[in-house]
Amino acid sequence: MSSLRPADASPLLIDGKLVPGSGGTFTTVNPATEETLGHAANGTAAEMDAAIAAARSAFDHTDWRRDPTFRAHCLRQLCTALQSHLDELRAITIEEAGAPAFLTHGPQLAGPIADLNYAADLAENYRWESDLGVAAPMGVQTHRSIRREPVGVVGAITPWNFPHQINFAKLGPALAAGNTVVLKPAPDTPWCAALVGMVIAEETDIPPGVVNVVTSDDHHVGAQLASDPRVDLISFTGSTPTGKAVMRAAASNVTKVFLELGGKSAFVVLDDADLAAACGYAAFSVCVHAGQGCALATRLLVPRSRYDEAVQATAATLGGIRPGDPAEPTTVCGPLISARQRDRVERYLATVTDDGGRIVTGGGRPADRDRGFFIEPTLVADVGNDAVVAREEIFGPVLVILPYDDDEDAIRIANDSPYGLSGAVWGRDEARIRHVTDEIRTGTLSVNGGNWYSADAPFGGYKQSGIGREMGVAGFEEYLETKLVATKAG
Ligand code: NAD
Repeated sequence: MSSLRPADASPLLIDGKLVPGSGGTFTTVNPATEETLGHAANGTAAEMDAAIAAARSAFDHTDWRRDPTFRAHCLRQLCTALQSHLDELRAITIEEAGAPAFLTHGPQLAGPIADLNYAADLAENYRWESDLGVAAPMGVQTHRSIRREPVGVVGAITPWNFPHQINFAKLGPALAAGNTVVLKPAPDTPWCAALVGMVIAEETDIPPGVVNVVTSDDHHVGAQLASDPRVDLISFTGSTPTGKAVMRAAASNVTKVFLELGGKSAFVVLDDADLAAACGYAAFSVCVHAGQGCALATRLLVPRSRYDEAVQATAATLGGIRPGDPAEPTTVCGPLISARQRDRVERYLATVTDDGGRIVTGGGRPADRDRGFFIEPTLVADVGNDAVVAREEIFGPVLVILPYDDDEDAIRIANDSPYGLSGAVWGRDEARIRHVTDEIRTGTLSVNGGNWYSADAPFGGYKQSGIGREMGVAGFEEYLETKLVATKAG
């Protein structure tokens, strides 16, 4: 394949073939310029039906599920093929997702592609069978063994914010485990997924039907995938309300669900921390990719006695970060994905005064950007943890600063959220850090700037942030069933 960039519309991948959608095409937009980037095939119920049938048939009637060595070969081949297109994929990811260029060297592109090798290693080295030994339940001498097997057909439904990371964090382990996949990406980033489908079809040995990619601007196509009885597992990443809808749809067939949902994570600055450094770090983090990260810490908890000082330090950092062209290597804060998303952030900011709060810095559209869905890095102060902006996921570069009285109060506020996805603790005293990290009910925690993101590190949420873990061995095992075989001994 010479160029990945579609001349016309990107295709669907169904049963090994690159095909158009019966719904025509839909537009994909560059959020930094508001210009049309291109078009994508608009899959409908008919194509989703064909994709599920292809995945079912590839699982039931080929050796894919029985051959981990071949699967490892295919995953490494896909990794190499994608790496040969890295520059082109980088340009398209920046244009379609509005992802700052620096992130495409890490979790927005290069990292997740390289992580396909981690999945390949798991396919080769995983202990698929283990011996439970002999026992005599109810007097019957029995030799028991446990076999781990692929779940079957995986429906993977993904959002737009870290499209490659999330697509590959599902495709890698699902395929390594021996499943077949129907991938339904977000309507805002169809190319990021469709181009992977093109590479799979044209540059790998992955058999027809093992991976199917159905882009669509119609959410019902995702709902159809979630409710189809031929699907064995729905692996969903997206908002909590949609996750609940997916769970309801899957319940009709008792389909297993794996959910990575929203977050409203707390960044706790203990009173022995370097306050300025901690607040600066929190402010910088919430601007990365314009705050469009489920795991970003968006509630900054600071000692009440140093609240004013913390507000000042945080505002100084936020005020110094200018939203900019994501293609520039120094840009941290690019655009929001869409006008719809910017409207949503602005609706949240409009609630601040009603809740008795004030916007310390930011709060509007940057004056120096007349195109693109940009919003200024924003600090909200003087609200309680019950304010709308402190409870709900905003998905923009908006940080809410909250005072606490002592460590127990900080833990209480951190846990006073329907979510439990991530968070951070900064301080010096190891015993206090240990206590706070023990007590916060969340799936991931960063201490003093530690980075939890890597292929072998499980990631996921407590409470309404999800069910299950992505990445690592735990993430791989989400895609496995367990079979116990009991053989009469002697
Ligand atoms: P969304 O929930 O609107 O959509 C996610 C996907 O679900 C899209 O592909 C969409 O087309 C599809 N969809 C919509 N309605 C559906 C339905 N009824 N049935 C099946 N599929 C349906 O989320 P979004 O706006 O694309 O992404 C932002 C959200 O994703 C945020 O809430 C963010 O926190 C969350 N997110 C979570 C993680 C995580 O790992 N926990 C990672 C990234 C993003």
